[in-house]
Amino acid sequence: MTDNARDVIIVGGGIVGCLTAFLLAKEGLKVTLLEADSVGSHASGFAFGEMGALEGSGIPDPLLDFSVWSLQRHQSLSQEFKDASGVDNQFQITNRLTLAFDEDSVARLKKNLAWQQNVEAFNVSWVDSEEVVKVEPMASPLSLGGVHVQNAASVEPYRHTLAAAQSAEKNGVEILQRRVTGLLSQGGRCNGVSFDGGQLEAGMVVLAMGPWAGQSSAWCGLEIPVRPLKGQILRLENDAGPIKTSLYWSGNYVVTKPDGLTWAGTTEEEVGFDEDTTRQARDSIMADLLKMAPSLTDARLAHHTACLRPLSVDGMPIVGKVPGWDNLYIGTGAGRKGILWSTGMSFGLADLILKGNSDVPGIEFLGLGRFTEG
Ligand SMILES: Cc1cc2nc3c(=O)[nH]c(=O)nc-3n(C[C@H](O)[C@H](O)[C@H](O)COP(=O)(O)OP(=O)(O)OC[C@H]3O[C@@H](n4cnc5c(N)ncnc54)[C@H](O)[C@@H]3O)c2cc1C
Repeated sequence: MTDNARDVIIVGGGIVGCLTAFLLAKEGLKVTLLEADSVGSHASGFAFGEMGALEGSGIPDPLLDFSVWSLQRHQSLSQEFKDASGVDNQFQITNRLTLAFDEDSVARLKKNLAWQQNVEAFNVSWVDSEEVVKVEPMASPLSLGGVHVQNAASVEPYRHTLAAAQSAEKNGVEILQRRVTGLLSQGGRCNGVSFDGGQLEAGMVVLAMGPWAGQSSAWCGLEIPVRPLKGQILRLENDAGPIKTSLYWSGNYVVTKPDGLTWAGTTEEEVGFDEDTTRQARDSIMADLLKMAPSLTDARLAHHTACLRPLSVDGMPIVGKVPGWDNLYIGTGAGRKGILWSTGMSFGLADLILKGNSDVPGIEFLGLGRFTEG
C-alpha cells in the first residue's frame, strides 16, 4: 500500500465493526468505517449488556472456550477504552441466578451443573428455594430453586460501543455516515465499496453489518445465512429496591443497572426489519418480570426499546474470510450473545487480517465455509 492508501474499509458501526476498527488501527492500519445510520444505533446500543458464558447457542460445544475467552477479554479492554476515549462502559463483575418454577426446569438446569461447575472461571452452585431469596431478596419465593453463577460480567452496551468507536477514532480511524450498496471488485479481488453518490477504495473490506448481513449475499456471490430476530427491553423506575443479582427465567431477565433503572426483557420476534416497540411485548415482558420478581408490581415504565439481533441459521457467529475472496472478511451472526462475543469475534478478525491465523480458541468453528462445505 502507498502511504495515503486506505488499508481497510469496515461496513457497519455496531460493536463488531467498531471494535475491529480499533484493533486494526492500533496495529497501524489505515481504517475507514462506514455506518448507514449512527454508531451503536441498533442492537449494539440497545442490548441488555449481560455476559453469560455458560449458556446459549453453541455452549458448551463447540463454543465454551470461545465464550470464556471473550468474557475474560472484556475487563482489560474496558480499561483500555477508558484510557483511550474517556468513556466508561460501566463494566462490572456480576452474579446471576437462573430460576426454575417447575420440575422439568429443575432437572434441565441440574443436568448442566455437572460441566458448568468444572469451568474454572466461575463459581457455580445450585441454590434451593429458601436460599434463592437469601441470594437475591427481590427474587420470587415461589421458585423451586436455581443456578447461581458468580463471576459473570456486564457492560452498558451503548457506552461500550461508543467507547470502541471513540477509541478507534483516537487511533486514527475515520468514521463516515454512508449506506454501502455494493462492493468494488476486479478479477475476483475486492477493492472497496460503493454507496449512493460515491465509492471508496481499500486493500481489504470487512462486512460487520449485523442483521443486515444477508443483504450482502448478492455482493459476495454466496448466501450469508443471517436474519433479524427482534427483541424488546423495558427500563423501569422501581421503589421496591434494586435487584443486585441478575434474575433469569425461560429466556427472560431482570436486573437493576448502574443508571438506577431496572432493565427487563425480552422477546424473540421474527418480524423482518421492524424495530418498533409494541404494547404486546411490553405486557408480556411485565408478566414475565413479575414471575421472577413479584414485588415489582408498581414499577413505572421509563424507557421501552426494540432492536434486531443478527441470527445465523445455526445460532453461532460468523467470523472470517469470505470464501472465494482473498481480501473480503465478515463478522456477524452473534444472535443473543453479540456483546459478550464481540471480543472473540473482533480479536479473531483482526488476527486473521493481520497475520492470517488466530489463537482465539474456537475461531476455527466460525467460518462461513461451514454452511457451504458439505
Ligand atoms: C433485546 C436484545 C438484548 C440483547 N442482550 C444482549 C446481552 O445481554 N448480551 C449480549 O452479549 N448480547 C445481547 N444482545 C445481542 C447483541 O446486541 C448483538 O448480537 C450485537 O449487538 C450485534 O452487533 P453487530 O455489530 O454484529 O450488529 P449491529 O449492532 O446491528 O450493527 C450493525 C451495523 O451495521 C450497519 N449497517 C448495516 N448495513 C449497512 C450498510 N449497507 N452500510 C453501512 N452500514 C450498515 C447498521 O446500521 C448497524 O449499525 C441483545 C440483542 C437484543 C436485540
